[in-house]
Amino acid sequence: MEESHSSEQTHRHGDQVMSLQPFPKSQGPVVPYVTSWSEETRQRPEIIMRTSMGFGFGIAFADEKVFDRDRDGVLWTRKTLRHGQGRPRFGDVHSVRQRHAMRRLLCQVCAQPADRDEDGVLWLLPDYYAEAEGWPQDYDLAEPPVCRACVPIATRLCPALRRGHLGIRARSAPVCGVRGVVYGPSRPAPVPLGDYEVRYDNTTIRWTVADQLLRTLQDCTPVDLDQYRCHASDS
Ligand SMILES: [Zn+2]
Repeated sequence: MEESHSSEQTHRHGDQVMSLQPFPKSQGPVVPYVTSWSEETRQRPEIIMRTSMGFGFGIAFADEKVFDRDRDGVLWTRKTLRHGQGRPRFGDVHSVRQRHAMRRLLCQVCAQPADRDEDGVLWLLPDYYAEAEGWPQDYDLAEPPVCRACVPIATRLCPALRRGHLGIRARSAPVCGVRGVVYGPSRPAPVPLGDYEVRYDNTTIRWTVADQLLRTLQDCTPVDLDQYRCHASDS
C-alpha cells in the first residue's frame, strides 16, 4: 500500500520540487531531514464546514486545492517548503518531509532508505512506550525510521529520544492514520478541539487537518543499539 501512495508528488510544484530531496551535506551541524527551518511557515487557510442536506460531514479549506488532500481524501496542513533556509527548529517536524519519509520508509535524519534486515525496518522509540502493556506491538508512531549510520545522531538530536529510547525492528508497519488538529462542527465556522491521533477508519478523520503520518508497528523484535554506536565511533 505504502509504495503505491504517491500523493507527495502533488506537493512537488514550483520551488518545492527540489525540497523533498535529501539536504546536501554541509560543514555545519547535522540537521535531521524532517526538522523544520525558520523560513518554513505554517499557513492558516480559512476552515469551512462541508455540508450535505444541511448536515456537516467534515471540513475543508475555503480555497482548497487538489494537493491539499492525500489519495485517501485526508486534508493536510499547509506549510511552505524552504528546506535549509534560516535556522533549524529542532523539535518542530515539517509535515511534508515527515510524510514523505514515512510513506517511503526513509531515514528521518539523512532521507536515505531506512535500515532493513530479516527482522524488518529499524525504528527508534522514546522509552515511555515501554510503560504500555504489550509494547510495542500495534503502537502508532509518527517518527520515521532510521538507517544504522544515523542512530547516534537521531538519539542525540531528537528531543523525544534524548530522554531515553529503544531500538525496534518491525517486519510490518502499515500506514494507519494521522496526527493533526481535529475540528468540531460550529457556526459560523468549525472550531479546533485539539491535537489528536486519528486512524483512517475513524470518521473523525474528515474533521482533521493532518500534520504527520502514522504507522503502526507489527511483528516487532528488540534491537541492541550499542552495536551501531560502536560502529559509528570506529569509523
Ligand atoms: Zn540516515
